[in-house]
Amino acid sequence: MEPDLRGLTRADIEAALTGLGEKPGNAGAVFMAVHRRGATDLAQLPGVPARVCKALGRLYTLKPLPLPERKLAAADGTRKLLFRFAGNALAECVVLPGKDQQTACLSSQAGCSCGCTFCATGALGLKRSLTPVEIVAQFEACLREAVDLKSLVFMGMGEPFLNWENVKQAIKILCDSRGRHFQQVKMTVSTVGVIPVIEELTASDLRVRLAVSLVAADPELRARLAPMEKVYPLKRVLAAVRKYCAARQAHVMLEYILLPGVNDRPADSAQLAELIEGIPCRLNLIPYNPPGGPGAATPRVKEFQQELIAAGVRAYLRQEKGADISAACGQLAAYSISPK
Ligand code: SF4
Repeated sequence: MEPDLRGLTRADIEAALTGLGEKPGNAGAVFMAVHRRGATDLAQLPGVPARVCKALGRLYTLKPLPLPERKLAAADGTRKLLFRFAGNALAECVVLPGKDQQTACLSSQAGCSCGCTFCATGALGLKRSLTPVEIVAQFEACLREAVDLKSLVFMGMGEPFLNWENVKQAIKILCDSRGRHFQQVKMTVSTVGVIPVIEELTASDLRVRLAVSLVAADPELRARLAPMEKVYPLKRVLAAVRKYCAARQAHVMLEYILLPGVNDRPADSAQLAELIEGIPCRLNLIPYNPPGGPGAATPRVKEFQQELIAAGVRAYLRQEKGADISAACGQLAAYSISPK
């Protein structure tokens, strides 16, 4: 089957038009017709000569953008959208309300192969990686929910750096000035630590922001909680992060999920502070939410934060949202869609 024109960047369209013997200068109009003007008929792209539409139609299709199957709304205004993509690949995205702006949290994969023990997505295993079109579809659905969408995070289901080519393609589509023109600096990609992609990002001209999920400072504990530690040990991940920060004059967002009695002891905060010393960062502490409901806030959460602050770390407590609809961190598992 012909590829979907929606999954192409403007540069891809230029190359395709050149290959078809058409002027590449038409690529901007084609891109705008598809991504801003909502065209659904490849034979009649608004603002594009009929000859060019016909030529593109020989190589591509233009399918309707997938729509969410269900929507759940939480008491705090968080909304979770559930998609059933081709091949019964279930994925969720979330709109998170903020004081002045709303944030879209997108999935990069249906399920995840990383197997982090505290994460509902990890328990599913990987169904498959999502295509650029499926990632764009989540963004468009979030935009319909929140016209004042100001930031976007890849912190939903999946490890974005294990589907980096498609995530990168979607980022390029979303930031194009002829399309949604969403600023790259307002996009954050979160990883559990895939070193080769951190290195690629360091050398690339993408302006997206990097977030790294630490999980635990102790290597043995981390290997038990996040098996990726055995492939990319956190010490080496953070060495790559230091280079990223130096090369790009950038801060990194570090995330630490607090698992009561597991990685929230005073020895853990001390080891953590030592491990990240000197990294220009903001550290977000995320209280654990068990699958299916909000977790109980423990006094250790505040104490852990204070121990880090005393050690010189800019540590913040993340305000968890949407836990009553399983939309908070680590809870996305498409539970609300029954399997077919
Ligand atoms: S925490 Fe992230 S990387 Fe780990 S299993 Fe869950 S989705 Fe995958």
